[in-house]
Amino acid sequence: MAGIYIHIPYCKQACSYCDFYFTVHLLDKQEFIKALLEEIESRTAYLENQTIETIYFGGGTPSQLSTQELNSIIEAIQMNYSVTGNVEITVETNPDNLTEDYLKQLSEIGANRLSIGIQSFKNEDLTLMNRAHNAAEAKNCISLARVSGFNNISIDLIYGLPDSSIEDWQNNIQQALKLNPEHISAYNLTIETGTPLAHLVSKGRVSIPSDDEVVLQHNLLVDLLSKAGFEHYETSNFAKQGFRSKHNSSYWKGIHYLGFGPSAHSFNGTSRSWNIANTKKYVDLIRENKTHFESETLSLIDRINEFIMTGLRTVEGIDLNHFENNFGKKRLAVLLQESANALSKQYLALDQNRLFVTPKGKVLLDGITSDLFFE
Ligand code: SF4
Repeated sequence: MAGIYIHIPYCKQACSYCDFYFTVHLLDKQEFIKALLEEIESRTAYLENQTIETIYFGGGTPSQLSTQELNSIIEAIQMNYSVTGNVEITVETNPDNLTEDYLKQLSEIGANRLSIGIQSFKNEDLTLMNRAHNAAEAKNCISLARVSGFNNISIDLIYGLPDSSIEDWQNNIQQALKLNPEHISAYNLTIETGTPLAHLVSKGRVSIPSDDEVVLQHNLLVDLLSKAGFEHYETSNFAKQGFRSKHNSSYWKGIHYLGFGPSAHSFNGTSRSWNIANTKKYVDLIRENKTHFESETLSLIDRINEFIMTGLRTVEGIDLNHFENNFGKKRLAVLLQESANALSKQYLALDQNRLFVTPKGKVLLDGITSDLFFE
């Protein structure tokens, strides 16, 4: 069992907070797709014939590609890998470029899960973030997706936005719930160095909420979504029953994945690799048959810390049987010893041989996790 990620680097415009790898120049699109198809063909050995259960188009904005282009990528994957019949195929999209025709075609080529980057239903927020859509498009896109045949829709929201009040955030959550998505990913805005938004913050043109305000927004989110029947199954992710993201869950469970496209990462249990984060160089290197990625072999300590970090992000927490079987009794004893402080403060809890973060500990997750890391 494994997953495939495809990074489509194109975006309509640059969002002010974004530090992902993307480009707004579509000139080299045909060359990029050709290189991508070559990469798909050339890396078949990486996953050692494991069955592909999930395919995820991320970016960037994958819906910048036509459905014919996306289909050529899906077909290349199906020709070169062993893909399960009920594969989950997710396509990240943005509300500004979704039409009923496009969505119907997406459904026809096999996409069965949409992840829509709504971020906010408030026009002022969307303008500040330099998003390419407005609040009306944000509200409209889910009904468009429904009539086009999608019954597994996720939306992304961002909290902790500059100049946002708890009432604004509450309104955003309520708007989202009215649209009845199956899945919601909600991220705390991080002000990344070098972004236009970081510049606005440093000049004092906008003010970011205090840590206490962000915690209030987070707690409100958890409260309202749990009342609405969503399971908080991972730090930033909430799903109706049966609608967890299979692809993203595989990252947190240590399932192997192969990433195609500029900046895409891959993991096969013992090593990690990452493609060059530059579309032109990616295309040139593949065309010249040169290596287009770097890789590292993971040490035992890397693998233990990864297991702790990803496990604590999920509602199931760290499976201690699995930990002992993979890393040994002595290391399990060390892990439990290091957990004692957080357990006594009820930031962590133990149940049925699982160590997990309590609701009280969730806002302190990063610190709790790093205290448990092995050296
Ligand atoms: S659409 Fe997504 S990837 Fe593109 S600039 Fe905006 S946040 Fe970044």
